[in-house]
Amino acid sequence: LVEARDAVLSFGQTPALRGADLSVAEGEIVAIMGPSGSGKSTLLHCLAGILTPDSGEILFAGRRVDTLRETERSALRRDSFGFVFQFGQLVPELTAEENVALPLLLGRARRASALAEARAWFPRLGLEGMERRRSGELSGGQSQRVAIARAMVARPQVLFADEPTGSLDSLTGENVMDLLVAAAREHGTTVVIVTHEPRVAAYADREVVVRDGKATSLSAERRAS
Ligand code: ATP
Ligand code: MG
Repeated sequence: LVEARDAVLSFGQTPALRGADLSVAEGEIVAIMGPSGSGKSTLLHCLAGILTPDSGEILFAGRRVDTLRETERSALRRDSFGFVFQFGQLVPELTAEENVALPLLLGRARRASALAEARAWFPRLGLEGMERRRSGELSGGQSQRVAIARAMVARPQVLFADEPTGSLDSLTGENVMDLLVAAAREHGTTVVIVTHEPRVAAYADREVVVRDGKATSLSAERRAS
């Protein structure tokens, strides 16, 4: 469903991707692992149409994403993708429930129904009572769960998540992964998740390791050993 073919990208003199290949099937949950600075976030941002590689191809449902005009790419992101970013991402002026409802509001849902749909996610993520708080009044872990709810609320075809449990203690992290995976399986959502925690990667159907800007898929035997 989403694919990078020989993706190359440098930030000035710094090469981030040096010919990365990755193909994720519809409904598949793939974990991207690898050392810090190896290019994991960059690869995720390319797959999600946030960054454009210098060369190579990015495809979604067989169509080129990297050659789309920015207006078309942002429409694709809005209609088909959900994101959980590595660093701060909630809109501080909005309440938690307004943050979760944002993708629905951008998709032109009515405010009342968008907020009702948003609120339905709070008990599922252990966030009951947090609906009206502003993001500055939430802990790091609570903010991360709000961000996950926001990424899932519009039922995206693909969920991209960058270290979604990075700031959570291990028990909360496991609960969040359980919920994320259950929601993804229920809706047939394809998930591409960056993590450095093997415990989190164990939830995935497949692990991919990024090293020096190149991606290698781990075979099932290697994972088992
Ligand atoms: P981490 O596990 O620490 O999040 P990562 O695997 O996600 O690391 P990337 O963020 O993809 O790594 O970065 C790959 C390389 O590109 C690194 O050398 C990094 O310093 C560089 N880089 C990433 N983003 C930028 C940027 N906006 N400007 C300049 N260099 C960048
Ligand atoms: Mg990163």
